[in-house]
Amino acid sequence: ALTTGIVGLPNVGKSTLFNAITQAGAESANYPFCTIDPNVGIVEVPDHRLEKLTTLVKPKKTVPTAFEFTDIAGIVEGASKGEGLGNKFLSHIRQVDAISHVVRCFDDSDITHVSGSVDPIRDIEVINLELILADLESVEKRAVKTAKMAKTKDKEAMKEHAVLEKLLAAFEAEKPARSVDLTKEEKEVVKSFQLLTMKPVLYVANVSEEDLLSEEDNEHVKKVKEFAEKEGSEVITVCAKIEEEIAELDGDEKAEFLKELGIEESGLDKLIRVAYRLLGLETYFTAGEQEVRAWTIPSGTKAPQAAGVIHSDFERGFIRAEVVSYDDLVAAGSMTAAKEAGKVRLEGKDYIVQDGDVIYFRFNV
Ligand code: GDP
Repeated sequence: ALTTGIVGLPNVGKSTLFNAITQAGAESANYPFCTIDPNVGIVEVPDHRLEKLTTLVKPKKTVPTAFEFTDIAGIVEGASKGEGLGNKFLSHIRQVDAISHVVRCFDDSDITHVSGSVDPIRDIEVINLELILADLESVEKRAVKTAKMAKTKDKEAMKEHAVLEKLLAAFEAEKPARSVDLTKEEKEVVKSFQLLTMKPVLYVANVSEEDLLSEEDNEHVKKVKEFAEKEGSEVITVCAKIEEEIAELDGDEKAEFLKELGIEESGLDKLIRVAYRLLGLETYFTAGEQEVRAWTIPSGTKAPQAAGVIHSDFERGFIRAEVVSYDDLVAAGSMTAAKEAGKVRLEGKDYIVQDGDVIYFRFNV
């Protein structure tokens, strides 16, 4: 499964946020495909469509889809040179598909900041620089190899050489790989380099309780937003401390507390929603009398592979998919009505599953 790593300097609120994630966490029994690891928190992806489908179909059981966060502790300045848990830290980041970067935006004189003052941009740059330096090293190594081959006029090597030059220029200017303008073809080439700074980033601005409720962003958050915009990254605002409290509540209590706070969505739900989108993930549903359930697929997944998320037998024996879009099903009011209205389509193995499709797979065992 795709995963998002949580990074940040010490004392910015990472553990507090990660505690909230594991508190709110889903039972891994329902999600056997998820990793079992103390540093991994499994969360259920909130989706209002699932509730609506439950009212329509009245199944015995409703199961949301799940999603993983990995806690990546231990970054300090100098990590790329092996300081602190440097190398371990970098190898953990290499394994995640997106990065949630927690930055301290709360002023609290009782809580020491590693650099003595609250300055989110400096903090972001400390971590980003470590990642850039690690990428610089791997790209330099690679460039030595391809330069030799490019001399022999090897077409692939020449192409790769040109891309590496672009990346090196960016790294030397302390810019991440994701900020480099690349053609689709070049992006394909870069994929194989497994660069840390190519991964999509979501900045999580951790603010105080008071600031969470004020309409205007605080000065720190404003700066983070400006920074992220230039880079093409996203920002969300949370108060990790409140998230820890929210995570202990369930259903109605949670709704009540959010109402009291005057917010519509918990920071954690926001984090899950944005991280899910950042990873290019989509949801389709199965809706039977036994169970209504949401499933996660990368966008662009074809029907047999989507079926494979449920069980590999479904993919192997795939015959056809009966598909109705969520909107059509809700408009019709029931599966039978949707069928009568001609809204249920029979799709074959080349069908690309769309977000919100409600699917019944036919397969051979
Ligand atoms: P980590 O080192 O990044 O994992 O940071 P922690 O989660 O351990 O938090 C460091 C300190 O900051 C702890 O004392 C937390 O209680 C406090 N803290 C975390 N989030 C907030 C917050 O949103 N507001 C305030 N005032 N303190 C927080």
